[in-house]
Amino acid sequence: MAIIMIEKVFEIFKEICSVPHGSGNTELISEYCVNFAKKHSLRYYKDEAGNVVIYKDPTEGFETSPAVILQGHLDMVCVKTGKSTIDFEKDGLKLIETDDFISAEGTSLGADDAIAIAFCLAVLESDSIAHPPLEVVFTADEETGMYGAKALDTSVLSGKMMINIDSEEEGTLLVSCAGGVRADASFEIKTENNFCDALKITLNGLTGGHSGTEIDKGRLNAVIALAKLIKDDDVQLVSIDGGSADNAIASFCSAVITSKNLEKTKNKIESAFEKLRRSCGGTDKNITISFEKTKAQYPINETLSKSVISCICEVPDGVISMSENIKELVQTSLNLGIIATGENKIKITHALRSSLSAEKEELSKKLEAHYKKFGAKVNFHSDYPAWEFKENSILQRVITQTYKEIYGKDMTVCAIHAGLECGLFAGKIKDLDCVSLGPDIFDIHSTSERLSKKSAERVFDMLIKALSKLN
Ligand SMILES: [Zn+2]
Repeated sequence: MAIIMIEKVFEIFKEICSVPHGSGNTELISEYCVNFAKKHSLRYYKDEAGNVVIYKDPTEGFETSPAVILQGHLDMVCVKTGKSTIDFEKDGLKLIETDDFISAEGTSLGADDAIAIAFCLAVLESDSIAHPPLEVVFTADEETGMYGAKALDTSVLSGKMMINIDSEEEGTLLVSCAGGVRADASFEIKTENNFCDALKITLNGLTGGHSGTEIDKGRLNAVIALAKLIKDDDVQLVSIDGGSADNAIASFCSAVITSKNLEKTKNKIESAFEKLRRSCGGTDKNITISFEKTKAQYPINETLSKSVISCICEVPDGVISMSENIKELVQTSLNLGIIATGENKIKITHALRSSLSAEKEELSKKLEAHYKKFGAKVNFHSDYPAWEFKENSILQRVITQTYKEIYGKDMTVCAIHAGLECGLFAGKIKDLDCVSLGPDIFDIHSTSERLSKKSAERVFDMLIKALSKLN
């Protein structure tokens, strides 16, 4: 039976690949799912965001079992090579199939997350798989900002258990992800009219990286590093600018400064930089500094200038705490992403993450108090909830047991310090028991993306075995 079933999965998968479904262009794939529901006389719900929910009654013996939500996303990241002539708006993908893999010619494959849709539709179509009541949720536009999951009215769901099929590593079960918030701090600038000689100092070549997955690597933040280098009683700031995104560790920063004796200041900074360079070889071996003589007219008022520099030097940054439940997981972190000097403001943007809502709150308050001490205000926005680790999870137990029965070894249970749709569902459905899994998909979001067929077969097999135990 399993072999026939996986053939059905691949048949559906290929059909999905023939329907254009890049982010922002999911209407056709939404309709495809709706038509599937109609064809199989299954109740469905579609909302304005393009999300589709399909319901299936329980099989015999599962009449009183609680409903299980199966979830994946409809959209894919569209990437193509320079040679590819594909128009993602209207063309299907050209698939390449070997014994081991499915990939697409010159483009990303979108197995992230078409394999979830294929798994789910195959379960919905089958009359031989035993399962509790199913609520299958396909969300729109996950890749560009989880807009479908944000918009979904979860009152159309009764399930309190959810299997998200949007992970790319067989043998790994995700059980928690971080929530986050953006914090924009701003200093009102007062300047002096004082035409003067100035020095532009630029730090460059730092390693940087993703503020979620690489925050624990001990890498330097260019903005904070530069503030520490220029901090001196003599130094007066004219402007400071650096970093490129709130969720990236700042890898470059420039400051224009003036001082009573610029030559002396430059020498001091140079020797401080030399110390820094020698001490950060493990993480930022390509760091460079450059100096450029310039003129400035409106340096920032002396007191304020000192405040800004001290404030940046002392701001909490990097890993704030590690998880007690999950080994090596960063629980709470803060990243200074961007600093920019405008006409009458210096704006500093941070990304704050935590897998515990309480710690996110606490750190937000701490950050606000820090800036207040230096005379700046903080505006918090773009808040998204954490998916907190759930002890005594039925899904964790059933799926890890099923895995062990099939594979004869333990499944890796882990969490990530970045956002997932599960967080949004956990924020909306009280006490949600949730896990995330999926087959091996390599090089997602790239033209080398490929789905392991054998892995898909094994994971699908595990999924239907687990469903049959949820009564
Ligand atoms: Zn995905």
